[in-house]
Amino acid sequence: MTFDAFRAPGRFRRGNIHTHSTLSDGTRAPSDVCEAYRAAGYDFLCLSDHFAERFGFPLADTRAFRAADFTTIIGAELHAPVNSQGEVWHILACGLPLDFAANAPGEDGVALARRAREAGAFVAIAHPQWSSLTIEDGRALAGIAHAVEIYNTGCDLECARPDGFQLLDALWNEGHDLTAYAADDAHFRIMDAFGGWLMVKSESDEPEAILAAMKAGHSYSTMGPTFDDIAIEGDEVVVRCSPARNVALVGRGSRAENLFGEAITQARLPVRRFAGDWLRVVATDTAGRHAWSNPVRV
Ligand SMILES: [Zn+2]
Ligand SMILES: [Zn+2]
Repeated sequence: MTFDAFRAPGRFRRGNIHTHSTLSDGTRAPSDVCEAYRAAGYDFLCLSDHFAERFGFPLADTRAFRAADFTTIIGAELHAPVNSQGEVWHILACGLPLDFAANAPGEDGVALARRAREAGAFVAIAHPQWSSLTIEDGRALAGIAHAVEIYNTGCDLECARPDGFQLLDALWNEGHDLTAYAADDAHFRIMDAFGGWLMVKSESDEPEAILAAMKAGHSYSTMGPTFDDIAIEGDEVVVRCSPARNVALVGRGSRAENLFGEAITQARLPVRRFAGDWLRVVATDTAGRHAWSNPVRV
């Protein structure tokens, strides 16, 4: 994996892949949630209601809310026993078949995640910090999940635990190459929408094409700033982005390289300290909002 998203054909599409409706514990109807994201300029949404017995294992059929400029991916937030904290897992699955079966008797989170992946889903480890997930939890899902949720708007607003990079970076340190995504996890009890999202590069706006691009890692995550290009040129990483006050390379341990400035739109940073290992790129604007690349091996 390199910075493939910026070499792949197509264009970036803005999406939120983790959000709830009245089918589980959200406050807005599925149609209202879809319309809110479409009106906010999103290209796609995965409505991911809690696939749990107490809600009747809902799997939102959002196909009727697709429009010329907006599509939906069928998915859910899956739950099963039990993570290292003794709590049910929260596992995101985007791209489920509508007949995905309810949890089987005795099915644990790892088995459920595997069944979702085998059914064609993009599988992801939701809100690691909010759940206080450990590296053991990460290892349990590392061979199954495609991605780690690295920013969660709701977890940020409710308890200032938005993060997932400690787990994702630790997994990369151990050779597990998962991708990153930001999402809202909006329930609309508070204004927890539009805070962090995924930009996915695909040729087509069909949900299958977007899903394939997500699985291929043709994406980056953001709270607002945009990446126009990231490339490795010789011994430098070259980043072109919306005006930033800081562009950083981040890697194993405390390894980092920084360029600080007023309104940086191009940064050249040395790759040397990350050679033979991995790095990811972060750009931060004057409002403190971040854009995050997926990690890559260099
Ligand atoms: Zn959750
Ligand atoms: Zn959720």
